[in-house]
Amino acid sequence: MGFWRKLNGYVHMNCKQATEMYSRSVDDALPFREKVRFYIHYFACAPCRFYVAQLKWLDRAMTHYRSLSRDGKFQPVRVLPSDARERILSAVSNSERS
Ligand SMILES: [Zn+2]
Repeated sequence: MGFWRKLNGYVHMNCKQATEMYSRSVDDALPFREKVRFYIHYFACAPCRFYVAQLKWLDRAMTHYRSLSRDGKFQPVRVLPSDARERILSAVSNSERS
């Protein structure tokens, strides 16, 4: 058993508690004691490290998206050609009438 896993046995924290604690730490700074408990679990637990990495990636993506839309550089991708869009809209409005 690795060092961090052994230590995690002493702090008694499961993944649910760790991820809730991480979410709270985004809005408010955790007390030092809680921070230590969280990091012991974090270093012992690969799924929690993966979860935190995903949240950080999502946060960076949202920050990037916001900065692009603020500068007006963000152009949404239109997957649907405009004529197809028109056909769908008219079909919907026709079916609403009948
Ligand atoms: Zn975990």
